[in-house]
Amino acid sequence: MGQKISVLLLAGILWMAALPLEAGAAVHFVHKTGYQVRLELDEERRQRRLDEWRLILVNFENKLDEDFEVERTKVGNNQYVDARIADSLNAMLAAAEEEGITIYPISGYRSYSRQVSLYQNKIRRLLKEGYEPVEAVEEAGTVVAVPGTSEHMTGLAVDLVDAGYTLLEEEQENTPGYQWLLQHCMEYGFIVRYPEEKKEITGIIYEPWHFRYVGEEHARVIMHYGLCLEEYLEDPEGYQQQYEEEGKGFR
Ligand SMILES: [Zn+2]
Repeated sequence: MGQKISVLLLAGILWMAALPLEAGAAVHFVHKTGYQVRLELDEERRQRRLDEWRLILVNFENKLDEDFEVERTKVGNNQYVDARIADSLNAMLAAAEEEGITIYPISGYRSYSRQVSLYQNKIRRLLKEGYEPVEAVEEAGTVVAVPGTSEHMTGLAVDLVDAGYTLLEEEQENTPGYQWLLQHCMEYGFIVRYPEEKKEITGIIYEPWHFRYVGEEHARVIMHYGLCLEEYLEDPEGYQQQYEEEGKGFR
């Protein structure tokens, strides 16, 4: 056991949700990634902040604790997600189905130990392919999340594939399923978490199957501006405001 220093568990915004801030106060929080989150809090936004479990940031520099737990609900065949997002996910899949597009959730919540074995298997395979140990570890980390850094552990991420092409490969982007999701995921609060052009920031390869729940109001803005979550968290209120000023806001 021993204490986990990675108490960056609910990084960024969620962390600030716990602070007793006065209305109108501005907060600056610098992520380990170097991104700065700045928040101007008015009453309305303070209220909204209560929901910000949805913006939890998990990446190679913001690890979840081994003991992280979340209440889960079964979806699809045999996958589990955070109970709070199951309805949104099911509604999204049903809407696609109504248009004749079948999408399968093939990977939802993953425990820490499951992630450990996935990661170790990947390294083993790379070593077999002739990689040097250091390279194998590095390479494995870009394909399989290092334990504690996988969003799947939050229960807020789900890998979705088209029924006609169920491989987790880049070609997934050409399927009707992905094309439909690209147009509609934000309506249900989901985003494409690892866009092709954001690899440098996310540290993760392009994954046109990995969707992440952040809630509708955030998803619409993130998808509209083609951001990755790390970028959005730099200034969520600012992006929201810009979006509203452009007349895209919904309410
Ligand atoms: Zn995934």
